[in-house]
Amino acid sequence: CGIIGILGLSSASPRIVEALRRLEYRGYDSAGIATVLNGTLDRRRAVGKLEALEKELVTSPIKGKAGIGHTRWATHGEPVIENAHPHMTDHVALVHNGIIENFQSLKDDLLAKGVVFEGATDTEVVARLLTRHIEEGMAPKDAFKATLDKLEGAFALCVLISGEDDLMFGARRGSPLVAGIGKGENFLGSDALALAGLTNQLIYLEEGDWVVMSRDRVAVFDAAGSAVEREISLTHVTN
Ligand code: GLU
Repeated sequence: CGIIGILGLSSASPRIVEALRRLEYRGYDSAGIATVLNGTLDRRRAVGKLEALEKELVTSPIKGKAGIGHTRWATHGEPVIENAHPHMTDHVALVHNGIIENFQSLKDDLLAKGVVFEGATDTEVVARLLTRHIEEGMAPKDAFKATLDKLEGAFALCVLISGEDDLMFGARRGSPLVAGIGKGENFLGSDALALAGLTNQLIYLEEGDWVVMSRDRVAVFDAAGSAVEREISLTHVTN
């Protein structure tokens, strides 16, 4: 439902919570956050209001300057903790807005190969498929593209990769996703409001675009995989 991604210069967790609060108006049933620190992925999730996640973060703080956050509006799988995003494996943490239409056939393929699922969302299939490609030896960027090529449906995705403190992937097809350009920091958000407290320099990604982001670079590719230039616009969203 709501997505935020930060490759930042300060602690990601409070900034992600603030951004998710800006997206509260959309409605949601659960929320979660993942970070990467010294190459290690970490995650906190909670069912219910953002307050529940904030309480969890007080009891069990999460460190790292790179992180992703999500508020979920369940479409596939009950609003329980196992189905809250981010979905995390040994290799990736991933959040998703939208619906993966062909998730069942992709899931059946993975199950046949012995892949174990934690929850029942369509989203988890994307995380497991991407993980599978990385385990097969693909570089993370190639693995992400190969995964995108197999998906049908509507999605905005934001992904962190284990072992990579300065790398974030994003993709949009059918659901909006915006890249934000900061000073030595870069961001992804499901809309301009998510990024309002972080930067006013935005790239509105086009249908089929996907992004490979580090703190000093935002590389945008189209659905065919060609590098493309997208305009940076100045916005003045306030909340
Ligand atoms: N289809 C996904 C799920 O049910 C994402 C829903 C959303 O956009 O929040 O988990």
